[in-house]
Amino acid sequence: MTRLVIGRYPTPVERLEGSLFVKRDDRTNATYGGNKVRKLEYLLAEARARGARRLLTLGAVGSNQVVALGHFGRAMGFEVEAVLVPQPWSEKAERNARTALALGVRAIAAPSWSAAPAYVAWRLAFRRGIYFVPLGGSSALGSLGFVDAAEELVQQVREGRLPVPRVVVVPVGSGGTAAGLAVGFERAGLPTRVIGAATSPPSMALDLSARRLALLVGRRVGLSRRASLRAAGRITIESRWIGEGYGVATPEGERAIAEAERLSSALASPLVLDPVYTAKGLACALAWSRRRPGDVVLYWHTLSAVSLPAGDPEAPLPVPIARLLRRT
Ligand SMILES: *Cc1c(COP(=O)(O)O)cnc(C)c1O
Repeated sequence: MTRLVIGRYPTPVERLEGSLFVKRDDRTNATYGGNKVRKLEYLLAEARARGARRLLTLGAVGSNQVVALGHFGRAMGFEVEAVLVPQPWSEKAERNARTALALGVRAIAAPSWSAAPAYVAWRLAFRRGIYFVPLGGSSALGSLGFVDAAEELVQQVREGRLPVPRVVVVPVGSGGTAAGLAVGFERAGLPTRVIGAATSPPSMALDLSARRLALLVGRRVGLSRRASLRAAGRITIESRWIGEGYGVATPEGERAIAEAERLSSALASPLVLDPVYTAKGLACALAWSRRRPGDVVLYWHTLSAVSLPAGDPEAPLPVPIARLLRRT
């Protein structure tokens, strides 16, 4: 499988407190990091190999994946289009929407998640030379980036940077991060389980799609069907961190943000969280490590540490896009 290396690896592992460690995928790339970088290394390589000129994706209006695709896709000379759906307003969501527009992403507003597939199908039917990047970049191909990431972690364990983790905790949007890691740990023979903090309901759907992806990714990297099933079985999705829904902050998440600020003093660079994913993910990791002190827990940090320019913050957003940022 061809891979275009966009990131700088390995990303650091640091100790947060006691036997709780953090994997700094916020620093996968100096201009825009986070977990989407690893997926795009495979997806953009395939788009280029197929001779595509345009990329099409979909996501919430404040999607990090749309920003990442806009940034790296445009830099490689692709046109980038995104079907966007509503999400609750937050500073971060508005900033991401502005950033995507500033990057030259052509945004198509869809009224709901249930309407989005029809918008995507319509663009795919009428455009030529277009490559589709699924939600969160989580195809089996995109998830291969996290099989590599698991291998990278195994190497860091070998070098003594951390003990073998009992669990890796990661926030879950579309499941590709969790699925790739589970397959990587299975292949390396590590006992590590993957705990996913669901960020949108229903968590059962996330559970099924993450496990299905693990099965597909396992087969793709040459694992037997049994081993692929074992990889899928390593994933547990927890529903209790979702709160009222996707993009809605929770009290546990707010506490995790405050904890991250406190714990950052011991780190080389501060751990900055967002309310949509990483606050919920760290809340889950803190609960795991405090419930069973001594168990090695690795929190996988997925949010970019750096932001891209978002243009003039006072300029009005195009009305169809502004409407997608729902004020609650
Ligand atoms: C996209 C994203 C996730 C979710 O990753 P999936 O592989 O889609 O489950 C988690 N955290 C952040 C910051 C993200 O942008």
